Amino acid sequence: MRQQQGRLQVIAGPMFSGKSEELLRRVRRAKVAGLHMEVISHALDVRKGAGIVSTHAGLSIESRTATDVGHIWEVAGNRSLDLLAIDEAQFFGPELVPTVSRLLAEGTTVLLAGLCVRFDGEPFDPVPGLMALAEDVSKLTAVCSRCGAGAVFHQRSVPSVVDDAGAVTAELVGGAESYQALCRRHFHPQP
Ligand SMILES: [Zn+2]
Repeated sequence: MRQQQGRLQVIAGPMFSGKSEELLRRVRRAKVAGLHMEVISHALDVRKGAGIVSTHAGLSIESRTATDVGHIWEVAGNRSLDLLAIDEAQFFGPELVPTVSRLLAEGTTVLLAGLCVRFDGEPFDPVPGLMALAEDVSKLTAVCSRCGAGAVFHQRSVPSVVDDAGAVTAELVGGAESYQALCRRHFHPQP
């Protein structure tokens, strides 16, 4: 095992807070520096097509697509990467935490970007827990669509989807057409 220590860096916030832009900014810097690295996006995020990390602002970079943490390990495990960047980290679920820990133990620095809050205003695992374990956390805010204040929440701007049992379905992947960022004063979670 290498002497180099892996560091955990987390970029967290609501939708429209520029998480992917910040991730891509750091990925570009790492490429310029010649680091041995991989970029992973979740297969659920098909805003611009599979294999691309894209931002609402239209920036993009090629990435490997993964559907679960097993895929992440196949891409990055036992490879002595300098850096592994993962976008939309919330989609990988709680299993992401032990996988990230293994990569850090191998000396790989892990850079995650993800939602830390759900559309109902509750913490969105596993990102809040990973923030607690990280060497470096960037907590970003969006701009409230009503008043322009810093927004830590996002909400559907269309009615939520409720299944037969009355439960609100899992977080969907969407863009400006289906969600809006809201400040604490203007955020009113749907019952
Ligand atoms: Zn507001």
